[in-house]
Amino acid sequence: MLIRNLIFWLSTKRGVTDRIARHGMKNGFARRFVAGESLAEALAASQELCSHGRNVSLNHLGENVTSEAAAREVCASYIQMVEELHAKNLNGNISIKLTQLGLDIDKELCRSMAREIAARAAALGRAIEMDMEGSVYTDVTLDIFESVQRELGNCGLAVQAYLYRTEKDLHRLAPVKPKIRLVKGAYREPKDIALQKKSEVDASYQKLTTLLLEGAAKGTFLPAIASHDWNMVAHAQAEAARLKLDKSRYEFQMTPCELLVCFAQPACRIGQRIPPACNLAVCTKPRGWLAPCTIPSSRNRSCDSWHGSPLHRPPSSPDGSPLEPGPLL
Ligand SMILES: Cc1cc2nc3c(=O)[nH]c(=O)nc-3n(C[C@H](O)[C@H](O)[C@H](O)COP(=O)(O)OP(=O)(O)OC[C@H]3O[C@@H](n4cnc5c(N)ncnc54)[C@H](O)[C@@H]3O)c2cc1C
Repeated sequence: MLIRNLIFWLSTKRGVTDRIARHGMKNGFARRFVAGESLAEALAASQELCSHGRNVSLNHLGENVTSEAAAREVCASYIQMVEELHAKNLNGNISIKLTQLGLDIDKELCRSMAREIAARAAALGRAIEMDMEGSVYTDVTLDIFESVQRELGNCGLAVQAYLYRTEKDLHRLAPVKPKIRLVKGAYREPKDIALQKKSEVDASYQKLTTLLLEGAAKGTFLPAIASHDWNMVAHAQAEAARLKLDKSRYEFQMTPCELLVCFAQPACRIGQRIPPACNLAVCTKPRGWLAPCTIPSSRNRSCDSWHGSPLHRPPSSPDGSPLEPGPLL
């Protein structure tokens, strides 16, 4: 627990994560978690995934800017991401973090930049998604999301299964017919607002999956099931079959750890299990890469722990020998 707290604290220190990321990219280990330091690298990774029939969702890692100038820089880079995706004719979208757009400085500033990004995407016929961050931001994220989605209609939002409030939030959002990315939740939250046990989070995830897929059947939600937990994926697939949902009415999302690169390779056994309607999240700029990959609490184990999981064998070739990491990471 102490070590997890230390890692959590370190991950909030930009100088530390920048250094880890720099060395990590140089030495290769961070490449398992992020597609590249630059937009060009992320686009190259995206091109490869798209050539294998996947959609991508581009994301800048890192959170919480402290100046308006920094927020505007991030805003411009998100717009550039959408434009580049479009120029290269790549299937996919971008996912924004509101704390990178000045949420800590001024809610209206943040809303106007989120709107600007969504408007540019809409002009290109594309969509954006908004990440959900720690619980201090839940209300304001919902407000900004709701207003931009109501006006432009091309936004998706992540919601967290570990929060008690999420079902109520989904009922609130239903009228704007949103795309909803369902995640277990990656932040350490107190027990009065969030489920603490993996079994409870999993049960909540499955319940919300059913709610979202039933909503999809009625045209209320476009659910994106974002989990690497095959029990969650299997539950969603079973519910989609029960509801006779067309594959265009829901999707799966995963992040491109090294196993997911293998998913793009037809020879990979595990790859055969990847859901056909799967978007892969591709991250640029490794700053903060610890956050999505190793911060998750014990119920949200890290990419590293994947290797030890009896449920999820490491990617291997048809003869059982381990696969080399693919060219992407
Ligand atoms: C596309 C996407 C977007 C996300 N957006 C948000 C967000 O906006 N807000 C937020 O709070 N959280 C977000 N998350 C993180 C999420 O909340 C979880 O912390 C994370 O996905 C781990 O939970 P799990 O559902 O994969 O299941 P777990 O029960 O944690 O893990 C299931 C199995 O998958 C393995 N695993 C875990 N992570 C990975 C990985 N990256 N690659 C391969 N195997 C893995 C585990 O080791 C375990 O064996 C996102 C996750 C994804 C995939």
